[in-house]
Amino acid sequence: MSVLRPLNDPALERIAAKLEAGERLDRDDGLAVLASPDLIGVGRLANAVKEARSGPYAFFVLNRQINPTNVCVISCKFCDFAAKAGDDDAYEMTMDEILEKVREPIHEVHLVGGLHPTWPFEYYEEMLRAIRRANPAAQIKAFTAVEIEFFSKIAKISVDEVLDRLVAAGLDTMPGGGAEVFSDRIHDALYREKMGAEKWLEIHRAAHAKGIRTNATLLYGHIETHEERVDHLMLLRDLQDDTGGFISFIPLEFQLGYTNLVARQASAVDGLRTIAASRLLLDNFPHIKAYWVMMTPKVAQIAQRFGADDLDGTVVEEKIYHDAGATTSQGLRREELLRLIREAGRDPVERDTLYRPIQREEATFTVLA
Ligand code: SF4
Repeated sequence: MSVLRPLNDPALERIAAKLEAGERLDRDDGLAVLASPDLIGVGRLANAVKEARSGPYAFFVLNRQINPTNVCVISCKFCDFAAKAGDDDAYEMTMDEILEKVREPIHEVHLVGGLHPTWPFEYYEEMLRAIRRANPAAQIKAFTAVEIEFFSKIAKISVDEVLDRLVAAGLDTMPGGGAEVFSDRIHDALYREKMGAEKWLEIHRAAHAKGIRTNATLLYGHIETHEERVDHLMLLRDLQDDTGGFISFIPLEFQLGYTNLVARQASAVDGLRTIAASRLLLDNFPHIKAYWVMMTPKVAQIAQRFGADDLDGTVVEEKIYHDAGATTSQGLRREELLRLIREAGRDPVERDTLYRPIQREEATFTVLA
């Protein structure tokens, strides 16, 4: 691999030498990338890695996000989505309302929601079966590790059994939410009632052992430090070394909403550095996603030159981050995604949830798995 020059930061020059020698980057390298004043140089490093993995291609998926309820038994301090039963803004979608949303020409249903106090585990199994029947062509990416653990508690069965039953009902892959930041300090400050790093990693390890491919996230841009971001990435890299079960990593930009956690939204530059640090440190992750819903389509477009090789998809209707104040549109049309990708000089590849190309004219490619 060769890295374009010039690099106007000696720390980046050291990292480039490591990349060119095939050496693995370490924690200090990740911190240097997050702090480097040479933004273009950061992009050059991450872009070299991205292009060595997936050439000129950028992925997208025709998908639909469904959040069946915002009623949640937990109250995380950073969350503007959740409500308590009886609140004015509480909602519960009926099965018909859910199914109405999946009867479209999509290839992925992304299903996540609040931890509902009375819905039984069997209802979620039925949800998967009904979605599969309603749209057999769509793969189902459903339920964060937090939801999986919750199902195990309400059904009084093991996590293994939860996963087996969900797969039998139609689950294809798992999203990466609920990871937040792998830091005891942040856990205690923001989401004490919810699982921490150890449990999240344990559940993804269990999923990988069953052949369920999963995704991973980091919620950045609130009270976390650069050290905590990098430590999070290193823990994910360690698990991926063991299992190889992660498909993509998605840095999620914190939306301020009404939380009063921080004074302002993370900057575009911070988002681009975070994408780049992720691509550089997570050398065993096939894909890095620029999630346009939170980064905005414009920054996600630029992120394709900072290590990202995926823009997620059409989404159509997203409630979790829009309830937290995201001002992006609820969805993008296929043509808009193609434009965002092509304008960045990338070749678009429409994919399914496992990153297999959908057979259209633009989908002829080879990437490293
Ligand atoms: S982040 Fe998830 S678990 Fe926490 S309050 Fe919001 S919906 Fe509930």
